Amino acid sequence: RAKSTGPGNYVVFDPQMHAQVSDLLQLETELRKAIQQKEFVLYYQPIYNLADLRITGFEALIRWIHPEKGMVPPNVFIPIAEETELINPLGEWILDTACRQARKWNKGGRELTMNINLSGVQFKDKNLINVLENTFRKNSISPLHINLELTESVVMGDAEESINTLNKIKKLGARLSIDDFGTGYSSLNYLQKFPIDNLKIDRSFINTMETQSGQELVRAILAMTQSLGIKAVAEGIETWEQVKLLQELNCNLGQGYHFSKPLDEESADALLQEHNTDSPAMQEKEPS
Ligand code: C2E
Ligand code: MG
Ligand code: MG
Ligand code: MG
Repeated sequence: RAKSTGPGNYVVFDPQMHAQVSDLLQLETELRKAIQQKEFVLYYQPIYNLADLRITGFEALIRWIHPEKGMVPPNVFIPIAEETELINPLGEWILDTACRQARKWNKGGRELTMNINLSGVQFKDKNLINVLENTFRKNSISPLHINLELTESVVMGDAEESINTLNKIKKLGARLSIDDFGTGYSSLNYLQKFPIDNLKIDRSFINTMETQSGQELVRAILAMTQSLGIKAVAEGIETWEQVKLLQELNCNLGQGYHFSKPLDEESADALLQEHNTDSPAMQEKEPS
């Protein structure tokens, strides 16, 4: 397959590209095998209520533990999985595993939300609503505890069609987030029509917040979420300064290395235990 640089553009194959393509093909073969051999795990990054610094839930983030290469990041293999339809079995495994974990963590009356990333291919799949419904039922999890994340570019792609699908998901009872907000192209008119609960402000805005213009941008996004009546989630919080600023600006929720990196199940479990008994002592903590 020739690399596409846009509609109507051609790229001539050169030897370097040949190497890249065979790398990709190899990765595809390995990915197929990895699904059969279950080389994936979910990591969980806690999400905090910024006003009281309590954990409100987790975002599930997939990891591929490759037998030779070690940890392969999702930005490398998710696009390949999407191109090859492997995203369907993989996506179902992610949903099932994250829902099972949410059920475990909410036993005994906790009310944690599990955020799950949906790829664009999954979102457009005709079977999505069935898959979601079955997965929630199978794991006896209330859809109210599930928050599905979709990137801005996926939902803006075919906005009218997206509204339909988003409404169907809301009918099931699940919550919805726009992920990586600010990195794509959003029509504010559509944003208003989407039945979304949360808007996740991309990390690139949070880490430029110490500059005047960066802060103005975050301020503007927060004013918009407030007028839309939805919650804002700051992604990629790395410093206590950022926490303080976001608190002053009334940003509702946040996640990032300042609080915690994504954790394996066991470590996330330990964090929760500790969090339940202690008062949240995150105040002056530096990123680890
Ligand atoms: P995302 O959904 O926007 O996830 C946030 C990414 O930012 C995660 O990277 C997370 O580890 C990272 N992150 C969190 N806090 C910080 C911070 O303070 N500083 C920095 N520098 N990074 C931070 P990760 O896990 O590598 O995932 C990358 C992307 O891959 C995700 O972006 C998402 O688009 C995709 N992805 C991950 N897991 C899944 C999945 O289960 N399904 C699908 N479809 N996509 C996934
Ligand atoms: Mg996400
Ligand atoms: Mg994001
Ligand atoms: Mg992202």
